Amino acid sequence: MATSTTTTGGATTFEVRNPATGEVAGVFPNHDRAAVDAVVDRAHAAAEWWAALGFAERARRLDRWRAEITRGRNELAQLIHTEMGKPVSDAKLEIAMGLEHLKWAARNAHKVLGRRSVRSSLLTINHAATVEYRPYGVVGVIGPWNYPVFTPLSSVSFALAAGNAVVFKPSEYTPGVGVWLTDAFARAVPEQPVFEVVTGSGETGNALCRSDVGKIGFTGSTATGKRVMAACAENLTPVLMECGGKDAMIVDADADIRAAAEAAVWGGLSNAGQTCLAVERIYVHADVYGVFVGELVMQARAIDAGRPESKIGPITMPKQVDIIRHQIEDAVLRGARALIGGPDAIDGQFVQPTILVDVDDDAPAMTEETFGPVLVVTKVRDMDEAVERVDAGVYGLGSTVFSRRHGRLIAGRLRAGATSINAFVAHATVPALPLGGVGASGFGRVHGPDGLREFAYAKATTRQLFPSPLPLTTFRRTAVIDAVADRLVAVLHGRSRS
Ligand code: NDP
Repeated sequence: MATSTTTTGGATTFEVRNPATGEVAGVFPNHDRAAVDAVVDRAHAAAEWWAALGFAERARRLDRWRAEITRGRNELAQLIHTEMGKPVSDAKLEIAMGLEHLKWAARNAHKVLGRRSVRSSLLTINHAATVEYRPYGVVGVIGPWNYPVFTPLSSVSFALAAGNAVVFKPSEYTPGVGVWLTDAFARAVPEQPVFEVVTGSGETGNALCRSDVGKIGFTGSTATGKRVMAACAENLTPVLMECGGKDAMIVDADADIRAAAEAAVWGGLSNAGQTCLAVERIYVHADVYGVFVGELVMQARAIDAGRPESKIGPITMPKQVDIIRHQIEDAVLRGARALIGGPDAIDGQFVQPTILVDVDDDAPAMTEETFGPVLVVTKVRDMDEAVERVDAGVYGLGSTVFSRRHGRLIAGRLRAGATSINAFVAHATVPALPLGGVGASGFGRVHGPDGLREFAYAKATTRQLFPSPLPLTTFRRTAVIDAVADRLVAVLHGRSRS
């Protein structure tokens, strides 16, 4: 939780506090611009070595790192719990998901990024053409605290597998997790500092954006994403933007209501709602609205925050509590009803599950990221209205649809980076599928082949096999060749198929 900066003998440090107890959980250096530049410089030398290893050798070393994380997973899960508050069992689940993607990236990098031949055209038939995907060199990864292993690994694993060195700036709330991950990497790959960490506040992240990195992989809020883009614009450094969301669930009249309610409760309340892909809005067909809300309330009542054995932990950032409080109070003032929780659900850093109905469409609880255990449920006439209301927001990250017969149809109409049908967030757990958003949720993709290509640039190569019978790109071109070429163009492109 909240951190404070102190100066000791010229070097600044900051403290991390356990959000549940307020106790100091660790002290870390504040990397300034010079320190970040020095780390990036060192990483450049390591990047050359790492790229030269080739796909197979890198995969072997990434497998060693995966084994190292797996062996230390209990310690790592405890550290996540201490720094940001989620239950240890949830932290272990997060680590398991991160390991799946790490494995996929290592196993598939060669196939996706390695050199391959492509067909040339009739006019370029005398050239052999290939494309390959080359690493940028050093990639900077800036990560959030809410999934301090899964989220950064989604970029780090793919950037490393693509042949880049990585400098990672974890959130100031979870720097210990970042240090743990890089220490584990150094044990698995002791030869060169291929994966390094810099700790500090937003200023350290800003320094990384301005440093000599080939790309920035950013995961965090949309507001910070805009600042990151502005800083990267100075050097034309490309960026991957994994930003916030206001994800919705749609429940159709033919849905399995119990399953939909269970998914909504997990999707909206797990990690105390502090999930980019959290279900924050639910649109329910009028025919099943009553029974769904009843089931949802019953299941949500079994979840609480605050006790050691509670299923959800504290809100990690103190300032987020004020946002959650404001959204709930504002919604109620505008006429919403709290079926459970409500304005009294907040006690210090702990927020009890809250379900709101009759929320005004313009209320921040309906339009802005809540990042707390709050579900807003709305009755809709039909699925047309549901789709229209889901798509009305500025975000477009994930989405969930519950319907026995129309899932695919509804999913196809949603403007979002992904939709999971009859399950929550399954799309983010399938390693071969891309993850990312549209609109205010950002652009670019992690995971899957798209996630590998995100951290590499396409390099096209041609090799002339024999001189062209129709030399076009030369001043030796004659009027006869022009006439033949013109005729060819007419034949090749002059007729439409229909
Ligand atoms: P923030 O945007 O506050 O911070 C994200 C990272 O950016 C942190 O490391 C932060 O450092 C750093 N940062 C802050 N200011 C700057 C700056 N000026 N330049 C460079 N870096 C900076 O997000 P949170 O950490 O609070 O994470 C929650 C957000 O992340 C939510 O909006 C959530 O939706 C989103 N998210 C998106 C995901 C996705 O896949 N699309 C996945 C997970 C989360 P510091 O912490 O030190 O301020």
